[in-house]
Amino acid sequence: MKFTIQSRNDDLSNDLMDKAKAYLTGFGLLFDEEEPDIVLSIGGDGTLLHAFHKYRHRLENTAFVGIHTGHLGFYADWKPAEIEKLVISLAHKKFNVIEYPLLEVKINYRNEEDSLLYLALNESSVKSPDVTLVMDVELNDSHFERFRGDGLCISTPSGSTAYNKALGGAILHPSLPSMQLTEMASINNRVFRTVGSPLVLPGHHKCVLIPVNGPDFMVTVDHLQLLHKDVKSIEYRVAEERVRFARFRPFPFWKRVRDSFIENDG
Ligand code: NAP
Repeated sequence: MKFTIQSRNDDLSNDLMDKAKAYLTGFGLLFDEEEPDIVLSIGGDGTLLHAFHKYRHRLENTAFVGIHTGHLGFYADWKPAEIEKLVISLAHKKFNVIEYPLLEVKINYRNEEDSLLYLALNESSVKSPDVTLVMDVELNDSHFERFRGDGLCISTPSGSTAYNKALGGAILHPSLPSMQLTEMASINNRVFRTVGSPLVLPGHHKCVLIPVNGPDFMVTVDHLQLLHKDVKSIEYRVAEERVRFARFRPFPFWKRVRDSFIENDG
């Protein structure tokens, strides 16, 4: 089995990285940054987002594991003190692989045949760089609403505890192949109207955003943020690809939600 390690690059994460590397190679695993079977992410959920994008081209052959060196995370759910237990389980291949849905983001441009395709583990958001965002929202090729406001966010189920939650979206269990559309400060009055509630769309649905008042947009895909010019449309759907996590023990999602947002029983 081949492994690599992504560290947040602080002292604690780097120390743990050195320790894990020594243990795992001691057990006969091969360190391989190019084609790892296992990616150990040491840091926080943000570190795992970076690891995901680094190995996005080989998701079928890679499983991720996250150790948190800060507070408990959703993707980083192992404590530093458990590193030896984790290494032994890895070396003896005592783990299951679970899969979570991802979001496909396709950006089409006005003057180009080519479009850009991204995969998000958490979400993609769209904002206007300077004025109020005005976009038509199409669901399954039918006009749904004209959105005016700060922006729109489309999240995966596992990303629903991140930006989506801060925007008032629902927390979705990551076993649901779906995507959630949430509004950022929509303008709602007698003239302008949006649905005002988050929408949860199933795996076979499509959501397309079409610019009304300008062709340039700030589009985020997880931690990545880029200005896209001359945008014709942005298409969102639940991706065919899935992300794989190595699970060594039961750690129910709702327990992680409770530990993170309500009370951590330790
Ligand atoms: P960051 O601004 O450094 O960190 C954002 C926070 O979101 C961190 O505390 C991170 O946890 C946490 N987080 C990431 N994925 C999560 C998940 N699936 N569930 C619960 N919390 C999660 O940015 P970053 O580290 O580059 O991460 C980018 C992410 O930030 C985006 O994908 C977006 O979801 C999130 N974000 C949130 C807001 C908001 O809540 N208002 C605004 C913008 C972006 P760790 O500390 O464990 O890394």
